[in-house]
Amino acid sequence: MKTYDVAIIGAGPAGMTAAIYACRAGKSTALFEKNFPGGQMVNAHIIDNYPAESEIGGFDLAQKMFEQVSAAGAEFINEEVTAVKSGDIVEITTARGVYTAKAAVIAAGTVRSRLNIPGEDRLDGRGVSWCATCDGALYRGKDVAIAGGGNSAVSEAIYLAALCKSVHIIHRRGEYRAESSLVQKLRSLPNIVEHLGCVPVEIVGKDKVEGVILDKNGEKFTLPVDGFFVAIGGKPDQKLIAGAEKDASGYVKTDGEMRTSLPKIFAAGDNISKEVRQIVTACADGAIAALSASKLD
Ligand code: NAP
Repeated sequence: MKTYDVAIIGAGPAGMTAAIYACRAGKSTALFEKNFPGGQMVNAHIIDNYPAESEIGGFDLAQKMFEQVSAAGAEFINEEVTAVKSGDIVEITTARGVYTAKAAVIAAGTVRSRLNIPGEDRLDGRGVSWCATCDGALYRGKDVAIAGGGNSAVSEAIYLAALCKSVHIIHRRGEYRAESSLVQKLRSLPNIVEHLGCVPVEIVGKDKVEGVILDKNGEKFTLPVDGFFVAIGGKPDQKLIAGAEKDASGYVKTDGEMRTSLPKIFAAGDNISKEVRQIVTACADGAIAALSASKLD
């Protein structure tokens, strides 16, 4: 099996930009992805903060990036990476075998967190969902709830409001973490109901979601809903970054050249320790990581 110059794990905006830059640097480049390309951005109904695209669907932006990756000449390997081992030659393990590369860029994003409350696992796929754009249409004309207060929860609530009768947004604090333009839009919609300072404690229903029990300052009440979306952020997949130095929250530490603490392993995008997680910052990380990785021989 051939040894690639650069192997990139994850085809979100960070990984796809890294692939474009590595190819343009003349490197043989493998881009590993377990799903279809795009990462978290395919869950975004509308993206309106990516320069030169004042309003574009997340899926469409992902498609455009992937076309550029393919044209640049990267080899897309549609397999799940289960381990990345640093060494003179980096080893990338998938179910099909072990691939090798002179350098790797880990751009695997995050895995969506779970609330870990009763009913969440039992009713997963039966009214509990982690993807509003994938499953929202199932709840056309119905009542749904979404948990979370970040950009994902607020933008997904806005998306759901166009389809559903009512959208209950449940956030544990009194203030959203999401950016103010999104919160303003959320509050302009007539069928949004806000439950601030509320914690979901149980999802109820016999064979499908029938409601969610909320706790507000120790007082519990049931909100009858047909669908329950979880959008409470995520964490990096720890098995891919095993051995690398991480911050207290489990994100990989990188330097200005996107080097991790492991030789020949770089990282980019949402899985690294940083303040701003946006598509545009992921792309920037990816470009830097690929150029740094391309310098290795
Ligand atoms: P996030 O920004 O980390 O927000 C997670 C939200 O879920 C927070 O409001 C948090 O509450 C809440 N939460 C976390 N654990 C919880 C729990 N166990 N129970 C109840 N609530 C819980 O995650 P995100 O919204 O998925 O966004 C991830 C990153 O992508 C962010 O950097 C975000 O800016 C970016 N993003 C950007 C856009 C955009 O620009 N339009 C869209 C989507 C995502 P607290 O606030 O109390 O911590």
